Amino acid sequence: MNADQLRQYLEFYQDLGIKTLYRHTVPAGGLPVAADEVPLPEMPKTPESLPSLAPDNDTLFQILADIGDCRRCRLHEGRTKLVFGVGNEKSPLVFVGEGPGADEDAQGIPFVGRAGQLLTQMIEGTAKKEGMDLRRDDIYICNVVKCRPPGNRTPELDEMEICGQFLYRQLSAIKPKAICALGGTAARALTGHKEGVTKMRGRWFKWRDVPVMVTYHPSYLLRPYNQDAKREAWMDLKKLLHFVYD
Ligand code: URA
Repeated sequence: MNADQLRQYLEFYQDLGIKTLYRHTVPAGGLPVAADEVPLPEMPKTPESLPSLAPDNDTLFQILADIGDCRRCRLHEGRTKLVFGVGNEKSPLVFVGEGPGADEDAQGIPFVGRAGQLLTQMIEGTAKKEGMDLRRDDIYICNVVKCRPPGNRTPELDEMEICGQFLYRQLSAIKPKAICALGGTAARALTGHKEGVTKMRGRWFKWRDVPVMVTYHPSYLLRPYNQDAKREAWMDLKKLLHFVYD
């Protein structure tokens, strides 16, 4: 990489608000470049009439009321606050994570810890770089499970199934144009695929008839040796934002 390329590379991250970079070997793919992506490649066809997953005229308010002081699975035992979701309930884009961590459990708001701050930078930074006026508050963010798994372990299948009914109701009520699955748990809950995120990322899947873009979870991107993954995640976001907002 020559000096000019290095400057461009650093500016790319600076524009996204990333001020700390680790010295690392040059990523195999070189500089972050605009990928010539086809907007929506082939996706599996959804059956014509899907049974509804939600009561008629469902609202986020009603879903939260139905969750109530939930004790349907073991995760309620360690809960400080239930983390339902945050943002614009009319958003054309919904981000779905795995489950609350310690900061989210304390505040009752998804993605407010370090991973959340990175997610905000990724959304707002990518939008800005692509000439879009988009803030975190403009979109909707939630998780597969609404209570923090002990020690931040991966949610168990039964926990995902029990809480999944509320996630599906949230998505049915919001009716987004696209969903972003952050990491393997969200990808599995929304697409049913069990491939690793590395294989699924950057590709379109479907939750019912809604396109789902899978990308890396921000917690994974916080690990210092994942520069290539960071570059890929920003490419995924760029593709997603153009699909939703162009
Ligand atoms: N990780 C998640 O998956 N969700 C959050 O809300 C925070 C961290």
